[in-house]
Amino acid sequence: MTDEQQKQLRHKSRQQRLKTEVDKAVAAATAEKGVLLVITGNGKGKSTAGFGNVARAVGHGMTAAVVQFIKGGWDCGERNLLQQHGVQFAVMATGFTWDTQDKAADIAAAEQVWQQAERYLADPAIDMVLLDELTYMLSYHYLDLTRVEQALLNRPPQQHVVITGRACHRRIIELADTVSDVQNVKHAFDNGIKAQRGLDW
Ligand code: ATP
Ligand code: MG
Repeated sequence: MTDEQQKQLRHKSRQQRLKTEVDKAVAAATAEKGVLLVITGNGKGKSTAGFGNVARAVGHGMTAAVVQFIKGGWDCGERNLLQQHGVQFAVMATGFTWDTQDKAADIAAAEQVWQQAERYLADPAIDMVLLDELTYMLSYHYLDLTRVEQALLNRPPQQHVVITGRACHRRIIELADTVSDVQNVKHAFDNGIKAQRGLDW
């Protein structure tokens, strides 16, 4: 047997072993349940991934609802599209001011949109709920962590939830089934490129 043939044989047997392992893992994963997915970190792509999940669900004829913390009155490509496909949206009324010039107004707005989130999280007719930028409401203590945990824990068993935002609270990470940490390698903004329609919003 030539060196090349031996190499091919070794590769084939490695691939077979790998396939056996993967098949075993796939066969062992039999549970059906609503998944809590957290997409956090400082890199770009958290909200777009969350909306991508909603689009995926809607493409299967599933129902979905989106709660946008922070975004306020901003134009939003995903909202424009997904509303046309029956996705319900709750958007934080005043928008989050970031500089907390009016903390009381921010807290009231967070509370109001969270009440709608609680209704979605209690509705078995909704297959997927996206809580976009929820993490900031917890870091700023605008929402009570225990109350958020309770709503997530008591949701319908088959309902999927996606939470996005930087610096997700440790206790939400513990509650989650799947957590992705999106890292920032580089971002156009750092080179003076402003937020681009269709790419950033
Ligand atoms: P996207 O909505 O594009 O998926 P994201 O949800 O991961 O981004 P956020 O932290 O919610 O990011 O920030 C929202 C806006 O800030 C987007 O316009 C995004 O392009 C921009 N942004 C995201 N990450 C960075 C970064 N590391 N530096 C500068 N701007 C960023
Ligand atoms: Mg985002």
